[in-house]
Amino acid sequence: MASVIEKDVYYVCQRCTNCCRWPGDVILEEGEAEKIAAFLGMPVEDFIQEHTHLSANRKHLSLLENPDHSCVWLEGKDCRLQEVKPRQCAGFPNEWNFKDWRKWCEAIPVKKEEETRN
Ligand code: SF4
Ligand code: SF4
Repeated sequence: MASVIEKDVYYVCQRCTNCCRWPGDVILEEGEAEKIAAFLGMPVEDFIQEHTHLSANRKHLSLLENPDHSCVWLEGKDCRLQEVKPRQCAGFPNEWNFKDWRKWCEAIPVKKEEETRN
């Protein structure tokens, strides 16, 4: 995955929800299933059983998606896991992105000094 990280720019999400709707795995890193299960007030085994599947590379758990590829946790423009959403979600597009990502993402660039003042 080709990441294009700009050192002096921070992209502010405009909640277009495109990144919650495109096909592909939403990988859970170590400890994230436990964190989400605790947030939902359910045993982690049940969360894994009911809300995840094995990622395409068979190395990780991934959140389930709807038949149209949107994430099952998307509600309107809101993420129902906002407080505990996976790092993959929270990190896009500032920690990782891909070639031509700006065609799909409406995040607005601000200079890093501006972003830290807000
Ligand atoms: S967990 Fe939340 S932020 Fe991540 S893809 Fe699903 S709805 Fe979007
Ligand atoms: S695609 Fe970009 S602007 Fe849209 S919700 Fe995701 S990060 Fe925010």
